[in-house]
Amino acid sequence: MDGLKTYATAILCMDGAYTGGVRKNMKRRYGVEYVDIIPQPGIVKILAESINLPRLELIKEMINISVGGHGSRAIAIAAHHNCLGNPIPKEKQLKQLPRKTVEKMIKDLGFDQLGIKTTLLWLNECHLPEEVHISPNGRIFSRELVFIEKPD
Ligand SMILES: [Zn+2]
Repeated sequence: MDGLKTYATAILCMDGAYTGGVRKNMKRRYGVEYVDIIPQPGIVKILAESINLPRLELIKEMINISVGGHGSRAIAIAAHHNCLGNPIPKEKQLKQLPRKTVEKMIKDLGFDQLGIKTTLLWLNECHLPEEVHISPNGRIFSRELVFIEKPD
């Protein structure tokens, strides 16, 4: 692995109870050394509503540094249990998860040819990441991620 591919990115709330689990998950999943955290309270709501322009610009600037400067090629977008910045039920938060908004930012920054992978996560009441999926009939659900430990 070359030096440019040792970062991934996580867009998530400022709530410190959830940061560690996402960092660990991204490191294991993508084999990166570091995870840039792009935090704002209720960030899923900010991105989904797309009306708070100063915050949207700040988020975009952080994506620019993480992808353009650090070479990240994987971005997780995470909603979480009991979010004070976005106090609505899980089902509604999952529907909000703003993959299209983030992908538009990636495009606007000129990174759309880099093959950046976006992942949607739900951080559950145990602070653990679950991957969010959309079934063929349009139902949105989350599933806990299971890793098989590799021997050293
Ligand atoms: Zn929150």
